[in-house]
Amino acid sequence: MTQSDRKFVPRLTEKRWDHHIERSLFGKAQRDGVFNFKPGGRGRLFVIDTPPPTTSGTWHIGAVASYSQIDMIARSQRMQGNDVLFPIGFDRNGINVEIYVERNSYVKMRDTPREKFIELCSNALDKLEAQMAEIMMTVGLSGDYEHRYHTDHESYRKFTQSTFIELWRRGLVYETTRPNNYCHDCGTTIADAEVEYEDLPSSLSYIKFRVKETNENLVIATTRPELICACQLVIVNPTDDRYNKLHGLHAILPLYGREVPIKPHPSAKPEFGTGAVMICSYGDYTDVLLFRELGLTEVLAVGADGRLTAASGPYQGLTTQDGRNRILQDLAVQGLLEKTEKMNHRTPVCSRSNTPIEIIPMKEYYLKQIEFIPKLRHLAERTKFHPDSSRQILLDWLSSISIDWPISRRRVYSTEIPVWYCKKCGTPMVPPPGKYYKPWKESPPWTKCKECGFQEFEGETRTFDTWVDSSVSALFISRYPSDRKFFRRAYPASIRPQGKDIVRTWLHYSILRCYQMTGRAPFSHVWINGLGMDEQGQAMHKSKGNVVEPEPLLERYGADSFRFWNASEATLGSDFRCSEMRIAGAHKFVTKLWNLSRFISSFPQPRTAKLQPSDKWILSELSTLVQQSLTGYREFNFFLPATAIRDFVWETFASHYLEMVKPRAYGQGFSADQQKAAWYTLHTVLKTLLLLLAPITPFMPDHIWQQLYSRKSIHGERFPKPVWPKTHRRYTEKILAFNREVWKLKKDRNLALRDSIEIAIPKPLTPFRYDLAKMHSLQPKSG
Ligand SMILES: [Zn+2]
Ligand SMILES: [Zn+2]
Repeated sequence: MTQSDRKFVPRLTEKRWDHHIERSLFGKAQRDGVFNFKPGGRGRLFVIDTPPPTTSGTWHIGAVASYSQIDMIARSQRMQGNDVLFPIGFDRNGINVEIYVERNSYVKMRDTPREKFIELCSNALDKLEAQMAEIMMTVGLSGDYEHRYHTDHESYRKFTQSTFIELWRRGLVYETTRPNNYCHDCGTTIADAEVEYEDLPSSLSYIKFRVKETNENLVIATTRPELICACQLVIVNPTDDRYNKLHGLHAILPLYGREVPIKPHPSAKPEFGTGAVMICSYGDYTDVLLFRELGLTEVLAVGADGRLTAASGPYQGLTTQDGRNRILQDLAVQGLLEKTEKMNHRTPVCSRSNTPIEIIPMKEYYLKQIEFIPKLRHLAERTKFHPDSSRQILLDWLSSISIDWPISRRRVYSTEIPVWYCKKCGTPMVPPPGKYYKPWKESPPWTKCKECGFQEFEGETRTFDTWVDSSVSALFISRYPSDRKFFRRAYPASIRPQGKDIVRTWLHYSILRCYQMTGRAPFSHVWINGLGMDEQGQAMHKSKGNVVEPEPLLERYGADSFRFWNASEATLGSDFRCSEMRIAGAHKFVTKLWNLSRFISSFPQPRTAKLQPSDKWILSELSTLVQQSLTGYREFNFFLPATAIRDFVWETFASHYLEMVKPRAYGQGFSADQQKAAWYTLHTVLKTLLLLLAPITPFMPDHIWQQLYSRKSIHGERFPKPVWPKTHRRYTEKILAFNREVWKLKKDRNLALRDSIEIAIPKPLTPFRYDLAKMHSLQPKSG
């Protein structure tokens, strides 16, 4: 600071930004009602169908980042003048909490009285939810905490049940026994959408069958030798000449001696194993289709407990893995095992417990979806996706659906299926909607069977798949069907933000269920964020040891830095890398902005000014920045404003304009009018930057705003408009090039930046000559 600078004292007194005040700023904004939803407001209603997170207490850093971006949607919509409904909900149903309680309370769900187990889950959820809500507030989610909803609350479960009852009455629900994915760990049937595939090490065993008619060996390769007892057919490809002579003959099952037909079928792949395939109930989906197509009789080799059944003979009671090993030993002893090859097998596993699934026939309730697929495809085409390319994930999933949705689960902590059965004739009956029903412990609201008049009933004990609850969130938050007036305004929701990992579940089921209930799509825009990866771009797994925890990083760098990192990390829809280094990089930017703001805060704020050419120049760049940022906000793509603002601040404003006008702002050799113009411009740029950044980094800009510009929160303000003429942008390249040239020259000559130098200002930059001359201490070139 020189003598003449002494009178300029920063109004932002803190030398450093202390991000630990973020939480109290958030609390104050909440108390002041800044984020309150005002449905009677004059703006357009903007409804966010916020994903209710699975309440588990721990949060993946990628999820925290995605919720921060959903908050950017909310805040940027408020700043565009809309009345924003940003609900906060918690998805508390289902297997996750049940597993959590089993692990932490040392109980087994199936050995604990149902009432007691439900209580344990509910208590655990309250604690876990409190932890998650705390992270939500720490990271600055400006949602409606006061009216938070819970999918396990009586009001929500009543709502889920009422939608089921309506669909039941309309004939869209049926119960049937069919082979389906079964997780014996979770003890329940699960939908295709809940199945993931993992490459697991396995072995391919080449086993000798005998052909009955010719007595020759037929070698069949399989990864599931324990299913030999369930084999009903051997197929070979019709074009596979090696086996032409076997068509219509019979194979004798090794160890069991039973004979099964050998038939040509195009499902057999000549290049896999020996090209001959055993078809068993059930090794995979091809088996299911062939059993159905050819009307084969099921033999169930694996029971619901994941162990081999009586059909396997001496192997009964063994787990599939133990049974497999024993059977291979016995085959080897009898000389029936030709060889075994190690291989990686693409194995279907349960997405909740990671257990390899079996295909087991069970009696389950199904919700019709097949007949809706053409309509769902049409709705997907008409909904606006962000990014547009993410629509394809949904379309691909719709193309792959082959059966209706199994919605019943053999679990405890979920919404009960509201059905009772007559104890005499078995007729199922559903109650009228409008109440929360627990058939496993309550009597039905009727006394007689509608079919036979019998007076005793058995309540259903199964519950719904948790997606049955969460798929109607868009209806629940728009107060369907009780508040018709509000529903008409709030449905369809404006936007459904979510991760791409739950497109085939939450997105698909939501469109299906809401369409079935209302005949319309549930939202106008779908926003699909990428997934959080580690520094190398690999998925994070506890087993890999590459999990990045969000809480310590939020503590160390604050929410603004965390959010700025995430917004500037990757464009919408792309996977993003999570690491401390990257967040620390964002923190540098936040610190830079504080230092800039503090510097500018030392100058008065004139209301008007006679702008100098340099001022007009930076304001023309500012207009462009405003325009770019608003485009990003309108497209819900925060990468655009974050990177445009960062580039403007680092590359143009701080390194060039600020250096050019420092002498003028301090009044060193300039008129009062010229000095005032510098002050005016510095504040105009700062104010604009704060407003543009507020949705992304909600805390520091708000704090500075309230210290310098207003008593009210910045989050009640509207976005700035690009009002400054862009004519002076034509100088940008030349100004930047000239400054760099001077800096380089001084460096080459070992001069300090303030040392004077003899250099001519290029003709096109004549309008800027006073600022440039002062900035670089230029001496006019003599001669
Ligand atoms: Zn499972
Ligand atoms: Zn009856």
